[in-house]
Amino acid sequence: MATSRPDCLFCKIVAGEVPADVVRATDDTVAFRDINPQAPTHVLVIPRDHYADAGEAARAGAGVMDAVARDAHEVAAAEGIAASGYRLVFNTGAGAGQTVFHVHGHVLGGRGLQWPPG
Ligand code: AMP
Ligand code: ZN
Repeated sequence: MATSRPDCLFCKIVAGEVPADVVRATDDTVAFRDINPQAPTHVLVIPRDHYADAGEAARAGAGVMDAVARDAHEVAAAEGIAASGYRLVFNTGAGAGQTVFHVHGHVLGGRGLQWPPG
């Protein structure tokens, strides 16, 4: 189901219809700063194609999650947090805190990160 959804906020960011602070764009993904950052570096990495969540993207079997993980690492490297450590988070489902239903990996770093998360 690799499509754009007219009612999806992140599809609109991919299309340039909603502004975002884009830090990296590839053929497969777009990465932009979270509007409500939870760490000194907080970037969202999304596939250009619409999948509701990480499970749907993984089951599509088209390397979507590979591309998101690869580009998340490239973002972390560019932000200078790849060596110190970063967290790549996919909130999956409303009960886990997902609020935007276009799969996105949160790249978080630049401060100490607690484990387990809340
Ligand atoms: P989640 O709760 O895992 O679905 O994450 C959604 C994230 O999207 C939250 O961290 C929001 O702060 C972020 N967000 C919502 N709208 C925008 C936007 N227009 N630009 C950048 N980040 C956004
Ligand atoms: Zn979308």
